[in-house]
Amino acid sequence: MSRGLFIAGRWREGRGAGFASTDPASGETVWQSAAADFRDVAEAVNAARAAFHDWADWPREERIEALRRYKTALEERRGPFAEALSRETGKALWETTAELGSMIGKVETSIAAYDERTGVKASDTAFGRAVLRHRAHGVMAVLGPFNFPGHLPNGHIVPALLAGDTVVFKPSEETPLAGELMIEAFEAAGLPSGVINLVQGARETGAALLEQEIDGLLFTGSAQAGAVFRKRFADRPDVILALELGGNNPLVVWDVADAEAAATHIVQSAFVTTGQRCSCARRLIVPAGQVGDEIVEAVAALADRLTIGPWNGEAEPFMGPLISVRAAEGALKAFEGLGGEVIRAMSPVQGLSAAFVTPGIVDVTEVETPDEEIFAPVLQVRRAATFDEALRTANATCYGLSAGLISDDPKLWERFLKRIRAGVVNFNRPTTGAAGTMPFGGLGLSGNHRPSAYYAADYCAYPVASFEADGVVSTLGEIKGLRG
Ligand code: NAD
Repeated sequence: MSRGLFIAGRWREGRGAGFASTDPASGETVWQSAAADFRDVAEAVNAARAAFHDWADWPREERIEALRRYKTALEERRGPFAEALSRETGKALWETTAELGSMIGKVETSIAAYDERTGVKASDTAFGRAVLRHRAHGVMAVLGPFNFPGHLPNGHIVPALLAGDTVVFKPSEETPLAGELMIEAFEAAGLPSGVINLVQGARETGAALLEQEIDGLLFTGSAQAGAVFRKRFADRPDVILALELGGNNPLVVWDVADAEAAATHIVQSAFVTTGQRCSCARRLIVPAGQVGDEIVEAVAALADRLTIGPWNGEAEPFMGPLISVRAAEGALKAFEGLGGEVIRAMSPVQGLSAAFVTPGIVDVTEVETPDEEIFAPVLQVRRAATFDEALRTANATCYGLSAGLISDDPKLWERFLKRIRAGVVNFNRPTTGAAGTMPFGGLGLSGNHRPSAYYAADYCAYPVASFEADGVVSTLGEIKGLRG
């Protein structure tokens, strides 16, 4: 039995129903405890509310020191934490080790971002000075996804705490252990009681959290859940929403001399993390005819060489399993439903658990497919007669998270950059290329114009503009139209 909830600085079990997370590669139970019920969640929000003013009043330097202690605690746990992430998500160890690196790096980037984007700025005026300051919102609810269960909630929590907000965090129900380990690192950092709280559970627990008096929801997850939250808070302008959602991301390949070099970027874009990255390329757009054929053949040949296996198997895998058997069943069904001309069928992997699938590649030029994210290693190929048609096809989506162009022609890149609608737009790099030193967010159904990563500072504090004079000096001379 795991410990469950962390509320007001104390660990205890939830009062709700029991639930568990499992290793998708082996089916073994990784974490087991009870979910938080409505009372537990209310208690967590009350604890965060009670801690808010003191924490926000802490000198900035002291909050920074506390977060640096958290960074040290993560560094000390790096190896076992990465292994735990691999066990709970099935992701390869090279990926979860990199995830820990991103979590650790987040602290210093967030400090820099806080100062640059939401720090204090003052200028002299005739009467005294004009000062721009930023104030914390209050209690932030953070709902995390399963695919980067450490890095992504960490990317909301660290900037929020730095800004002076307090937090109630609910990890994905698929990855409660990841959330627990993160909170253990915060506990080791010695943050005041109630500043960070953990509740565990599925959607009902998330819904219970949103019923409380929160000041913000920092969410990374599916567009479907994002749509629910947008409606839920439509009449609550006082609650700040930062929604980081999915995408149906296009990758255009045009005018390339080396199809095999292009294939390396395409395969990385489509199949890294078993296709479970929000920025994965879902749609490949290539020239019609032989040029396109060569690219697609090179992609299929490289995909055939990818090692698929458990994180702790003999050979280091490129791809682990999907997060669950249920997710794999859903992906296989979605792939089948696409129709089109199958280039590589997505299928279960012989000798491995039913959560493993092979990458699927399908030419859908002649069929209509839904404008939906399939969160799995599925690449849909479309042929275009001209670059303009390729661009139109790339933009034919209600999403707008990431997009990419692979080409030897910088002029095409200029056109692409001007026309493509997405928040992350890469040239001769995988669509998944991103950095904490840049904003990360999308247009359309991919978000709500509150990008995260470097710009997370913006939604963690609100600006206050002040005009200040040190003494009470008469402004009689400034009042127009005075009589007498
Ligand atoms: P999800 O939306 O199913 O769940 C995310 C979190 O929200 C979980 O904690 C879940 O319990 C909670 N939740 C979901 N629906 C809820 C509801 N109606 N009420 C209350 N809580 C609810 O997402 P997931 O499957 O965990 O993650 C994969 C999705 O996340 C993909 O769509 C992916 O593209 C997206 N994602 C986006 C980004 C980004 O930065 N834009 C990054 C990673 C993942």
